[in-house]
Amino acid sequence: MSKRKTKHPDKPHITKCIFCGGVPLSETHIWPNWLRKVIPKQNNHFELLNKAVPIGPARTDYSESLQKYKRDLFSKDPLLACGACNGGWMKDIEDKVVYFLKQALKGELKRQLSRSEQAALAAWIALITILAEYEGNKIPTIYHNILSHIRQYATPTDNFNIFIG
Ligand SMILES: [Zn+2]
Repeated sequence: MSKRKTKHPDKPHITKCIFCGGVPLSETHIWPNWLRKVIPKQNNHFELLNKAVPIGPARTDYSESLQKYKRDLFSKDPLLACGACNGGWMKDIEDKVVYFLKQALKGELKRQLSRSEQAALAAWIALITILAEYEGNKIPTIYHNILSHIRQYATPTDNFNIFIG
């Protein structure tokens, strides 16, 4: 039996992979399941403020949304990417952080991250940010050239900044 997805009425209907345009779409966990084992489930309700402000004189688009979820963060698995992307380069990005990030989040990593580990972590966080942006915003402001870049090079563009507050 296939799972039916309830579409958010304000969100664009995504019918093709946001990265390559391929079909069919596969369920894409924004946060991977292995994180649930490292960070225990705390509640079934969270609020997510998405705010995207493109940088540059010619960029005037802007988006902001506050969403309230009754599901926990780990259970979100929207249809955003095709199986080839999801199980291919996206999995490769995730695989590069699993071994050290589990240790780091448990406080068991007793060393600094190497430069390649820092780069892998940056790519993984960029990917999660992109997925959350496309899941959460009516008008995503992360443009296709950035999606193409991370798909092709497994790294965000040099001008891709993520601020955590
Ligand atoms: Zn794809």
